[in-house]
Amino acid sequence: MIITDTHTHLYSEAFDEDRDEVIQNAINNGITRFFIPSIDAAYTQSMLELEKRYPKNMFLMMGLHPTHVKEDYKDELKHVEIMLSKRHFYAVGEIGIDLYWDKTFLNEQREAFKFQIKLAKKYGLPIVIHCRDSFDEIFEVLEEEKSADLFGIFHCFTGTEEQAKKALTYNMKLGIGGVLTFKNGKIDTFLKKIDLNHIVLETDSPYLAPAPYRGKRNESVYLLLVLKKLSEIYGLDEKLIADITTQNSKEVFGI
Ligand SMILES: [Zn+2]
Repeated sequence: MIITDTHTHLYSEAFDEDRDEVIQNAINNGITRFFIPSIDAAYTQSMLELEKRYPKNMFLMMGLHPTHVKEDYKDELKHVEIMLSKRHFYAVGEIGIDLYWDKTFLNEQREAFKFQIKLAKKYGLPIVIHCRDSFDEIFEVLEEEKSADLFGIFHCFTGTEEQAKKALTYNMKLGIGGVLTFKNGKIDTFLKKIDLNHIVLETDSPYLAPAPYRGKRNESVYLLLVLKKLSEIYGLDEKLIADITTQNSKEVFGI
């Protein structure tokens, strides 16, 4: 059984004390593929080091996270552009719009999102979308940018059934993680109606640990709990779900 964590911030300071242990524990439990979203230029070096240490397991993305779109966003976008021109990344991410924390830079967030979608198209890469309190704004941009070469993942999908179905029309898969196990997470109520071919697994660790670890640091091995919940929802065995979602991740990322 090969399980793929399509979204983990393993370079985060939250893992400074025991990063190797966390990774090894995940690998020992079948989680062997880790896709690493970028946040801003400050983390690029630690992402590269992570890849160097685990070249067979770590797959890097490049992008500017919407909550890090600030006054200096043009410099940050330049960094993304330069990095993408220098070497291969597996996606442009994570990118999008976040209106939960701060609406000050909405226009800049929108501009950065569109700019990075164009970069993804230029390099034939998927996008990994961060969407928080911003479905309308995200869909508006996707509507403008939609094309056969626009595809990717709606990371940490927390929308309604209607929003899920709409996301699929833009060639997006849904990233499903710890929220699925939350009592008020809601997506468990309709997920069964979404074909498994549109689902990928993710932790978003160190954030969003599944129950019973909710509120604690998340790590990739907890994907087993998400897998268990998916198995209950779809009535399929865990190995099959691991296989299908890993296959889906290969389709998106090309590896
Ligand atoms: Zn993330």
